[in-house]
Amino acid sequence: MNEITTRLREIKRRIAAACEKAGRNTGEVRLLLATKTVLPDQIKIAFTAGETLIGENKVQELRQKFDALKEFPHEKHFIGHLQSNKIKDILKCNVSCIQSLDRLDIAEKLHQRLSTEQKEMNVLIQVNTSSEASKFGVSPGETVELVKRVAALDSLQIKGLMTIGLFSAETEKVRQCFRLLKNLQQEIIRHNIPGVEMKELSMGMSNDLETAIEEGATIVRVGTAIFGQRIYPDSYYWNETR
Ligand SMILES: *Cc1c(COP(=O)(O)O)cnc(C)c1O
Repeated sequence: MNEITTRLREIKRRIAAACEKAGRNTGEVRLLLATKTVLPDQIKIAFTAGETLIGENKVQELRQKFDALKEFPHEKHFIGHLQSNKIKDILKCNVSCIQSLDRLDIAEKLHQRLSTEQKEMNVLIQVNTSSEASKFGVSPGETVELVKRVAALDSLQIKGLMTIGLFSAETEKVRQCFRLLKNLQQEIIRHNIPGVEMKELSMGMSNDLETAIEEGATIVRVGTAIFGQRIYPDSYYWNETR
């Protein structure tokens, strides 16, 4: 069996075990393949094994892989830092959800563009739950206000929240990030904002997916544990300067 297929099985096993431990149904947690730097041939192996959801961080990679992957039915989310000059290109690549919306100005630009094209877009609001300067996301204290403002833009359909947990071997500190996201979700639900759904919690990656599932994740985003180590450091994808 191919290495990717073997690793995928292991991830599925980890997801199932975490769901079982948390008393949740395995069907409640969707696996998103984080495919930055991963070549189309490798992604196709995962599709052939039954996977249907990928997430890309860079518009350039979305474009490069578009043709090679289009024969495989699948769904694509954008999980990278959003830049206003790239919005048009993202919309061309059949992205069904932008998970990384974290600023009102970019939401407004996205709305303008979508309105012109008479389209709608599902979005998640990315929250910086670890207070690390190197990570994107709206601060927890400003999240409710941002959700309210984005909800007023009728081309954007808010479906939930996304976060990258603290990079730490201390599980309890990582757990606090996920719990914070869950608490924000509950707070937003209490505000009863018209047009806002809070079904999705996208949290958990290769190293912390069990903790995220225990805290209520509905989407886990896994790259390294399936496709192996990347040649670029994550700072290449997560730093403002790039
Ligand atoms: C790369 C990436 C992931 C996956 O991280 P791994 O540690 O490789 O599993 C998840 N979410 C985002 C936003 C990413 O950029």
